[in-house]
Amino acid sequence: MKIAVLPGDGIGKEVVPIAVDVLRTMLPEAEYVYVDVGHERFTREGKAMTNEDIETIKKCDCILFGAITSPPKKCYRSVILTLRQALDMYANVRPFKSCSISPYKVDFTIYRENCEDLYCGMEDVSDDQVLSTRKITRHASERIARKACGHPGLEMLTIVHKANVLRSCELFRDVCIDIAKKAGVPYEEMLVDAMAYNLIRNPSRFDVIVTTNLFGDILSDEAAALIGGLGLSPSANIGDRYALFEPVHGSAPDIAGKGIANPIAAVLSAKMLLEWSGHRAKAEFVQGAVDRTISNGILTPDMGGKFKTEDVGLSIVKHLESQ
Ligand code: ATP
Ligand code: MG
Repeated sequence: MKIAVLPGDGIGKEVVPIAVDVLRTMLPEAEYVYVDVGHERFTREGKAMTNEDIETIKKCDCILFGAITSPPKKCYRSVILTLRQALDMYANVRPFKSCSISPYKVDFTIYRENCEDLYCGMEDVSDDQVLSTRKITRHASERIARKACGHPGLEMLTIVHKANVLRSCELFRDVCIDIAKKAGVPYEEMLVDAMAYNLIRNPSRFDVIVTTNLFGDILSDEAAALIGGLGLSPSANIGDRYALFEPVHGSAPDIAGKGIANPIAAVLSAKMLLEWSGHRAKAEFVQGAVDRTISNGILTPDMGGKFKTEDVGLSIVKHLESQ
């Protein structure tokens, strides 16, 4: 297997090497292809990512991604949006699983449509009015619904929408119900406002959630708070051919260079890479090593500890090697 490694900017450069150490331990035969993309490269060379980079990435099976600093002014097209489009990675998958020190006990996954909705860039701007178009298609709704219905061990699919007000959501809901029925998957529907409420009131009742791009964006930040923060939240962007794995957090310029970034979100993103590539048992080893590291109190400051990024990484790899 060939893995493209894109550490990006800021703490991306600090946490991705830890995730690569974990992958090298679990997949010694894999090949790692480093590609430098992001704002730091843009400042140095005037380009955040070239077409040549995209071709190099396309020759790999999947991508391990760190984070990219959002420039203060929009001086270049977002690297992650470009990659999502170029590689057609239409499903954003975010698992939320509590650890021993999480404020809530939860274990659910959000499937967020990744390509359309209000983020499709169709905006009609004038001085006194801005019209943003919400695009929802049958095709995109079908493929995210299919991905969610295929979630391993799915017990209940919650379809989140606002179909009582929005016709676009009516289409999304109807398509999801149709796919769930055909797949023989148990499902329920929930309005997005009720979902925001129930996610706090009774988060342990959820299993697999499927929703549109904007709702998924908002609900997944709410969900990250339930498990104890950004430093613990991994994600995957999945298409039919390619997949990209990245921590939910950004480049965290406020702590970059201090060696104190929490590498767990990046390591759990590597765990998702292992699951996606069929190495389920190895993925569970990684989860076990992370759980043990947390129980032993090897924590970075964001989790209330005094340890450094490197200490957490060494502890996780030590547990992996002793399994
Ligand atoms: P960007 O422009 O790259 O999105 P940001 O300023 O929005 O950067 P985020 O990375 O989104 O920063 O992080 C928000 C806050 O959470 C910051 O205060 C950051 O220090 C903290 N944070 C994010 N990720 C981690 C991590 N892995 N470990 C510790 N703290 C983190
Ligand atoms: Mg951010």
